[in-house]
Amino acid sequence: MSGLADGLLEAWLSEHDQPAFRARQIRDSVWRHYARTTEELRSLPAALKAEIDKSFRVDTIEANDVSVSDGGLTEKTLHRLGDGQLVESVLMHYPARGFAGAGRPLHRERHTLCISSQAGCAVGCPFCATGELGFGRDLETAEIVDQVRHAARRLAPSGRHLTNVVFMGMGEPLLNLDRVLESVEILSDPREFGLGARHIVVSTSGVVPGIRRLTALGPQFTLAISLHAARDPLRDVLVPLNRRWPVAEVVAAARDHARVTGRRVSYEYVMISGVNDTDIDADALARLLRGDLAHINLIPMNPVAHTPWQASSPERVAQFAERVRHGGIGVTVRANRGQDAGAACGQLAANRAGEPAAPAVARRRESIIRASEAAMLGNRSTEALPADLEAAVALRRPRR
Ligand code: SAH
Ligand code: SF4
Repeated sequence: MSGLADGLLEAWLSEHDQPAFRARQIRDSVWRHYARTTEELRSLPAALKAEIDKSFRVDTIEANDVSVSDGGLTEKTLHRLGDGQLVESVLMHYPARGFAGAGRPLHRERHTLCISSQAGCAVGCPFCATGELGFGRDLETAEIVDQVRHAARRLAPSGRHLTNVVFMGMGEPLLNLDRVLESVEILSDPREFGLGARHIVVSTSGVVPGIRRLTALGPQFTLAISLHAARDPLRDVLVPLNRRWPVAEVVAAARDHARVTGRRVSYEYVMISGVNDTDIDADALARLLRGDLAHINLIPMNPVAHTPWQASSPERVAQFAERVRHGGIGVTVRANRGQDAGAACGQLAANRAGEPAAPAVARRRESIIRASEAAMLGNRSTEALPADLEAAVALRRPRR
């Protein structure tokens, strides 16, 4: 029920000769009390509950398995969906810090939920556990927003609320854009979850038509671009979608987005030792984004089983950051969270995918090294897009 587009609930109620105020009662149960069953839909007559049971699922998530790390600051939840697909969300707590005077903190405490938009992902970035898993399926709107309801329900007894939602879990949100847009609408609707659009971030690996469509719709949330390399040969390897939409097209679309919406675009850059963290890369990055309304987040790579790569050292990250900053661009180094519970960025799905067989891992690692070495020499990839990704990109023409 949480995924119903505006007006559908009202239409269904009127078809069933129900008074209009039932819509508010149902929304309150779903979005203030995070109901999971028809039983938990408060104040409804039994006959109506029985009708609802026939037409809707109150909750699309069948089971949750929570693991806690970072001394309680990071909680990963594995959600099992109706058809057995598994997706993950990660709840990160950031305590209040600093003093603004009069006993008030400078930065208020935050509770950020990182959610999934697809089961698996077709893009196949070689440093990402979800990418290694391949594509499962798109999530339904309700399956996306129910991840949020579950986290909010877990926080409620301690009087805490989610302050931010980021689409940085499993999947490429812009390849499931209709449902992601519906989810954002529901999450920001004051009658439903009521989270300000400024507190929602959608991250993309660079689906240019999707970015352009968002720009035409106007500011709905903060856009983040997963860049990871400023030069095409290397980005072809790190983000295979680059073979379809090269870096200049991605940045041009992001630049237009910032200009039209007036909202700063943030760029994510995973730091991989010896691969994309050289001075040449830093200078190329600064050149690429010079003068833009943009900010870069540097994220030391989290360990993932099938890759031969490791995070850049803290010293290298600091030098890289300084060099880019010197080029006139805002840079933040992101702290790693949840590594021990496999709950860090890009680690989602790592644990349950099961370890691939050792020879397969070795072959995969070798091919990744070969590709990145060729990229270092400046050779652009001549490989076709993986079949999964080709299909996903071809199918995702806007439906509206
Ligand atoms: N598919 C979208 C959103 C989900 S991925 C995208 O790529 O933007 C969310 C973020 O996690 C991306 O910035 C991604 O690059 C990053 N990530 C993936 N694997 C990672 C790893 N091993 N270490 C650190 N960050 C990683
Ligand atoms: Fe997909 Fe994002 Fe992982 Fe790339 S980083 S494989 S786009 S989830």
